[in-house]
Amino acid sequence: MSNYKGISADEKHRIVAALKSRGAGSCPRCRDSQWTVSEYSRIEVQATMERDTTERTTIPAVMIVCEHCGFISQHALQPLGVWPHADAIHDKPPQHANASTR
Ligand SMILES: [Zn+2]
Repeated sequence: MSNYKGISADEKHRIVAALKSRGAGSCPRCRDSQWTVSEYSRIEVQATMERDTTERTTIPAVMIVCEHCGFISQHALQPLGVWPHADAIHDKPPQHANASTR
C-alpha cells in the first residue's frame, strides 16, 4: 500500500474529459458540482442468483467521489472510450447473445 500511486494525472484528465463530453453533471445525492476521479475498480457481477455460480465476471470501472458529501459513483470504462482493450466489457464473453440492439 505504501507504494500505491493511484491513477496518473494524464488518465484522470482523460476520464474527466470523457465524463464532461457526455454531460455527466452534479452529484446525484447532494447536487454539488465538485467531484473528483478516485480510483479504478472492478465490479464483480454474475448471471444468476446462485451463491456459488462460476458464471461471473467483472466490469472495469472508475470511481467518482463527490467532494461535498462523499457519495461514490462508478462509471464503466468502456462506454467512456477510455478502456484501452479491444475486447468487450467483460473479461470473458457471455455464453449467449442477448437481445441488445447494440
Ligand atoms: Zn454529493
